[in-house]
Amino acid sequence: MKKFLTETAESLYAAYGAGISDLYIIFPGKRARLFFNEALLEITGGRPMWQPRYLSMDDLVRSLSPLETGDRLRLVAELYKIYDRYHPEPFDRFFRWGEMLLSDFDTIDKYLIDAAALYANVSDLREIESRFGGLFAENDEAMALVRGFWQTLDRPGVKSVEQQQFLKIWRSLHSIYSEYKARLRELGIGYGGMIYRDVAESLAPGDTDERFAGKTFCFVGFNALNECEKRLFGYLKETGAGRFYWDYDNYFYRSEDQEAGRFIRRNTARFGDDAPDLARDNFERPKRIEVISTPSDILQCKALYRELEKIYEQQGFIDKETAIVLTDENLLLPVLHSIPPAAAALNVTMGYPLANTVPYMLLERLLMLQSHVREGHFSHTDVLGLLAHPYVAEQAAAAAKAVADRINTWQTVWVPPDFFEDNDLLCRIFRPVPDVEQLQLYIEDILSGLGAVPSDSEEARQRKEFIFTILDNVIRLGNTVRECGIELPTGIYISLLRQTLAKTRVPYEGEPLSGLQIMGILETRNLDFDNVILLSLTDDTFPGNREGSSYIPFNLRQAFGLPTPQDHEAMYAYYFYRLIARCRRLTMMYSSAADDKRTGEQSRYIYQLEYESPHAVERSNINLRIDYRPVEPISVAKSPEIMRRLAAMEFYPSKLNRYIDCPLKFYFADIERLETPEQIEQEVTHLDVGNTLHRALELLYAPLVGRPDAARHIAALAAADIRDAVERSMADVMGARGQQIELSGRMSLHRDIVIRYVENIRRFDAREGGAPFIVEGLERTVKHPFDFGGRSVTLAGVADRIDRLHDGTLRIVDYKSGGDTPEFVSVENLFSDEGVTRDGELRYEPHNGAVLQTLLYALIFGTVEHADVSPALYVARKMGVPDFSPRPVCKSDGMMPVERLRPEQAAALADGLERLFTTLFDASVPFVQTAHEQKCAVCDFRNICRR
Ligand code: SF4
Repeated sequence: MKKFLTETAESLYAAYGAGISDLYIIFPGKRARLFFNEALLEITGGRPMWQPRYLSMDDLVRSLSPLETGDRLRLVAELYKIYDRYHPEPFDRFFRWGEMLLSDFDTIDKYLIDAAALYANVSDLREIESRFGGLFAENDEAMALVRGFWQTLDRPGVKSVEQQQFLKIWRSLHSIYSEYKARLRELGIGYGGMIYRDVAESLAPGDTDERFAGKTFCFVGFNALNECEKRLFGYLKETGAGRFYWDYDNYFYRSEDQEAGRFIRRNTARFGDDAPDLARDNFERPKRIEVISTPSDILQCKALYRELEKIYEQQGFIDKETAIVLTDENLLLPVLHSIPPAAAALNVTMGYPLANTVPYMLLERLLMLQSHVREGHFSHTDVLGLLAHPYVAEQAAAAAKAVADRINTWQTVWVPPDFFEDNDLLCRIFRPVPDVEQLQLYIEDILSGLGAVPSDSEEARQRKEFIFTILDNVIRLGNTVRECGIELPTGIYISLLRQTLAKTRVPYEGEPLSGLQIMGILETRNLDFDNVILLSLTDDTFPGNREGSSYIPFNLRQAFGLPTPQDHEAMYAYYFYRLIARCRRLTMMYSSAADDKRTGEQSRYIYQLEYESPHAVERSNINLRIDYRPVEPISVAKSPEIMRRLAAMEFYPSKLNRYIDCPLKFYFADIERLETPEQIEQEVTHLDVGNTLHRALELLYAPLVGRPDAARHIAALAAADIRDAVERSMADVMGARGQQIELSGRMSLHRDIVIRYVENIRRFDAREGGAPFIVEGLERTVKHPFDFGGRSVTLAGVADRIDRLHDGTLRIVDYKSGGDTPEFVSVENLFSDEGVTRDGELRYEPHNGAVLQTLLYALIFGTVEHADVSPALYVARKMGVPDFSPRPVCKSDGMMPVERLRPEQAAALADGLERLFTTLFDASVPFVQTAHEQKCAVCDFRNICRR
């Protein structure tokens, strides 16, 4: 099958011969000119000749107007200056709204809409008739839409706040529109629609227009046209200066039912067809059509790989006759990684998204760093991210590591600039910048410094190119900001820079006319390929919903003939049917994965093809291969080295609890010391509540240590003392000891929670103070040997608080901020996660780790201090209730609270410990996974265990 561009080149060459060089040929996209030139070269047998003048529609229109296209930011800024006179508001709040307004003005002009009529405010029925009667003569539907809209919105009576706000702005829009355009004209600039409209309205039928004199304009492959384009086409048609070459197939052209042909039918009727002999019956020729559905995008890419291999097996090569068409640009990178080696050359017309490059990631991190600066300090998240960036690590690895270690060790949340003073590069990176101008200089300094690598490797070349592209955009944006004459907040500047760079693509160095072609759907216009692979062909992306935001209500858009969703669908139908008309093999793939953004529904055009076309459509599903192989259990034998480490270990209750939970978890955490990536939270989190509570109580009770009658002093503590202790404690926990920290809303919430907990404890201690006690120590560590089976291990613990009660008993207080409960099944059950049912069967009965810890402290302290010991579990959140008791309660002991650790209970604890240590130190018993998978849900190592 001949291609459309080849046939068009033949037709033009037949008509103009060597004179083809004098033609102005206008294509809808830029890609077509390359292929057209190639076709021409073939037709002329390579004879030297001047190539025709190729233009895009925008190029042509701009060449006909004295106005320059304004930079987008400049255009929004000028609009702001006018709008602000009517509705004052800060620029940063206006910016997005301004972009929408600008887009509306653009549409109004491209569709030659009477802005005064559109932006009219008419509630009176007679006024509606008189104002719109002429405009919509014989268009009852449009008239009804306008009438309905205004009667609903502007009816007498109470209007909602939104309606009043809408009308207030709406009434000013025509004045804003007119004044804005006048101002742009003074500046000699315009937006796209304004320039199009100027050109369209400058065309006077019957007059000789010097701009077109002696020229012939050939419009090739256009489809949907705006009103300005139609007027220009009409003018050129009338004057004989325009020729029209439409790209269509009779399959969708001849049938009124085919939406794909809607615009072409109108265009040929109005402007004629200068190449009626082009082959128009390609669609119904034999084709192999296949639809492949996959459960994910990754598998879609894998399916693509296989498809390309198949093509290679059949043809022996993959060349420019094979095109991969992406309807979702986000798939570009995975697709690039899914090209088999058989496709030696590639041509990617979409360009590499700058936002996916390593230099852009660096810029993004710099912007985040500067956006989050607080009183000259940097957020640890931003700092750690930058320190880990490869370019920073490459030039200051040791310094970066030292700072990262310091932050992690001290758990510093807000990092002061003096952390970086030992290294010049880090000093330059980690300095706050005060305004937009300084930010621009800062970006230039850091990026150019990190881009200047003395290497000519491919990576270095690419890095320089990406950094150059970023800096080019930064400088251009800076120039525009200066021209605007508007004070730009740093946040808006950063947002603008991100928007600009998000759209920036760095061209690939490809093989435009020989390699496998990868492109977006718009780039396929006018091009034909033997093998077409359409990816992500779901309804969400094809046709998708391209309704942009607009201030013009839907009814008025319809009445005034602005593009509708139906037009959008017709346009996509055209892209689809046109592209497949001349192919021999079509593969359509889509991922059926659905989430909150996509339905995973196949495109409606696939259904149409299947049910309406004469072609058979083969279908296949690529399913996930589920691996049914059981996950191998993990067990670690105790090597001599492990035994050595065990022997050297001190056993705190937290380690024993871990071993009881899962021996393998104990092995990972305590023998191998595998660390889960340490995370410093941006603000105080649930886990930090515990640390803050402990530290606050330590600060609050420290002055009381050793003083008689602690309860009385505790009762006298004021709310301000508690608040002060909690805030100092938070600063300590956040690594800002001694500093005044500014609390965000969430942190204030945490502070209030801790204050409440402390207050609960204070009240409880004061209440218990009926019997006086002395605080003997805070956060005291104690160690004691424990002998079993001829061995000795060290038991250790840190008691949160030790009180001496009036009768000489030691109260060992353990603060808990979580939802711990003082109840436990039995002392035996504290050492295992198994209990026995009434029927004597084993069942899962999780051990109470908090009680085990408290009782072990009581055991150790009692032994060391030779005193009676009372274990006390201070569950802070439950202590507000009047009958709260901190004593552990043993269910198997008739719910008796453990007032004192009785000898038989101490003996039972010692038995439990002996059993536990005997197993732990048995070299023949490996570390195995817990039999209770419930435990795995909250385990840091579940990825290793695949549980
Ligand atoms: S995931 Fe489960 S089995 Fe593995 S270490 Fe953690 S608790 Fe043990």
